Amino acid sequence: MGTYAVIGLGRFGASVARTLTALGHEVLGVDTSPKKVQALAEMLAHVVIADAEDEETLRSLGMGNFDGVVVAIGQDLEANILVTVMLSEMGIKNITAKAQTELHGQVLEKVGASKIVYPEEDMGVKVAKSISSETILDFIELSPSHSIVEFIAPKKFVGKTLGSLNLRAKYGISVLAIKKGGRIIVAPGADGLVTAGDLLVVVGENDAVNRCSD
Ligand code: ADP
Repeated sequence: MGTYAVIGLGRFGASVARTLTALGHEVLGVDTSPKKVQALAEMLAHVVIADAEDEETLRSLGMGNFDGVVVAIGQDLEANILVTVMLSEMGIKNITAKAQTELHGQVLEKVGASKIVYPEEDMGVKVAKSISSETILDFIELSPSHSIVEFIAPKKFVGKTLGSLNLRAKYGISVLAIKKGGRIIVAPGADGLVTAGDLLVVVGENDAVNRCSD
C-alpha cells in the first residue's frame, strides 16, 4: 500500500484519486474548489481545500513524504506547470503530470515530471479503435507497433484448441489469457479450447492482432 497526493480533483484527478483508493492506497486530494473537495471527502483518506500554487501550502502538506504526486490540474496551464516545477524543486521524484498537448508534455518533462499522461488523447485513440472494430473491447499500447488486445474470439477460432490454431506461428501473437464468463485462464496451454463468446487477451504486433481479431 502506498501514499499518493492528487492535486486537482476535476474529472481526471477525481477518477485517479478514487481508483488509487479502491486499489488500497492512502490518498490525499487537494483542490481550490470546496465543492470538488466535499464531493470526495467521504471517499478519500484525506482531503484539503488549498491552492497548490502556493509553495508554503505544498510544503505544509508534506508533499515530500508521499510515494507519488499526481498533478491533475487541467485547464490552468500555468498552475499545472508551476506546481510541477515546485514539486520537482522540493526533490520529489515520482511526479505524474497531466498534459494537454505534446508540447505541453515536453515542457512538463523538462521541469521535472517523471511521467506524463495525455488522458484525452489516449481516450480518443481507445474510443476510435473500439468503435472501428466490433470485436476489440480493450487494448494497451506497448509501443507504437505492439499492443495487448482483448477481443471477442472470432468464429474461425471457435471449437479449436490453441495448439491447433497455432497463433504464434501463423500470426506471431501470443495468447495471455482466455476469459470464459466470469472465469479467466491465465497463460493457457496448447489444450486451451476456444468456445463461442470467449474473450481472448493477446499480445503482438498491431497488424497481426488486427488480422487475427477480424
Ligand atoms: P478535468 O478536465 O480533469 O475535469 P479541470 O481543469 O476541469 O480538469 O479540473 C482541474 C481541477 O484542478 C479543478 O477542480 C480545479 O479547481 C483544480 N485546480 C486548478 N488550479 C488549482 C490549484 N492551483 N490548486 C489546487 N487545485 C487547482
